[in-house]
Amino acid sequence: MRLIGIAKEKGGIIMKHYVLVAAVLSSACIAPQEIASRINHANKSREITICTTEDINEVEMQRLNYFKDSWHIVSPCEVGLNRVSTAMTVFYYMWEEEFGDPDKKVLNSLNRLTIKWGEDDKVMPTIYSISGVRKKNAKVRGLAITKSDIWVKRSKYSLIYNTAFIHELVHISLWATVDTPDADHESTVYKGENYWTTRHTAFIIEVNRMLWALNI
Ligand SMILES: [Zn+2]
Repeated sequence: MRLIGIAKEKGGIIMKHYVLVAAVLSSACIAPQEIASRINHANKSREITICTTEDINEVEMQRLNYFKDSWHIVSPCEVGLNRVSTAMTVFYYMWEEEFGDPDKKVLNSLNRLTIKWGEDDKVMPTIYSISGVRKKNAKVRGLAITKSDIWVKRSKYSLIYNTAFIHELVHISLWATVDTPDADHESTVYKGENYWTTRHTAFIIEVNRMLWALNI
């Protein structure tokens, strides 16, 4: 019954999403030892591939599954379309459970997102750590550039759980709901904004754990 309710609320996302939701819920109901054995099994079957390409200028724009007008820009070696689409679906499902999305602002924002994957860190003149420490000329692994535009450094094995992807989606979701990405995270040193809380930081860890369990 619960799944039917969720399905009705999320009319904007097609059926495959609900199959995934069912998988997520069912994995939360199994015994801890069963989870451990599944994770061990998943570890053994993990894809270990290192992609190299001669021509890094060969980029392609691909539309994500499940989302109306969201795209990612990849080179032939970068992150798989299905992984990115599923990761964003998991993110939204868990966001709605944790923070809600009554006006569908977050869903609408995710429906028109562009993701650019990169190979190298970027250096930014000023950034803030999670606790709000200001750093100059610091390397970053991800950026929320505009309300609908993120850049994320690809991980070595093209998995998403150990990238800044989910972190940047939190910035995007705040931008959609409170009109600022809250750049200083848990702190209020920048503009006195206090939207990003310890709950958001913990949420990123939870979503990335789920992606890890799904080998994404
Ligand atoms: Zn950030």
